[in-house]
Amino acid sequence: MGHDDTAAQRLRLLQDEFTQPVRTGPGDGRSSRPTHAPAPVNLGVVDRIRAAVYEVETHTRSVAPEAGQFTGEESRVYDWARQHTAHLATEQQNAREAIIYRQDLEHAIAAGDTTVVRRHPCPQCGCWGLYWREAAQRAVCVNHYCTDDNGVSNMWELKRLAHDHIARKSAVAQRAT
Ligand SMILES: [Zn+2]
Repeated sequence: MGHDDTAAQRLRLLQDEFTQPVRTGPGDGRSSRPTHAPAPVNLGVVDRIRAAVYEVETHTRSVAPEAGQFTGEESRVYDWARQHTAHLATEQQNAREAIIYRQDLEHAIAAGDTTVVRRHPCPQCGCWGLYWREAAQRAVCVNHYCTDDNGVSNMWELKRLAHDHIARKSAVAQRAT
């Protein structure tokens, strides 16, 4: 099954946008040091990226201990994980892809693009009316009839959307063979 590599691209985008120190003014021409201190990097994003890489790395080692330590550049972790788990059973590859795809969604949302949740049908009613609720860190269904027993709109973690997305993709791939 084909992989979209947007998770790696989005991780790089996050790094470029939020974690590169930016020079805020020209130097005095005599020294290579900027006259102004660089803008502080966004430590929240740095931590998020580190946690994302760590999650993929530990998951990979848990199913493929021979993979060893990941030492590459952060956005390469997805390729590294796929390389070391390509021989595993479909379910394990799907589990890996669900993690990568969930991180793809997380990176997009961290960069301000919450519209990515709209590309998924609601797991309960199947409608295409999910929107992101930042405070809950969940995708909420817009359908008034799609509620839990207390009448509260159904909400979904990215983990669930990613799992369903990969399961659908895998089913399509298996029918094609
Ligand atoms: Zn729904």
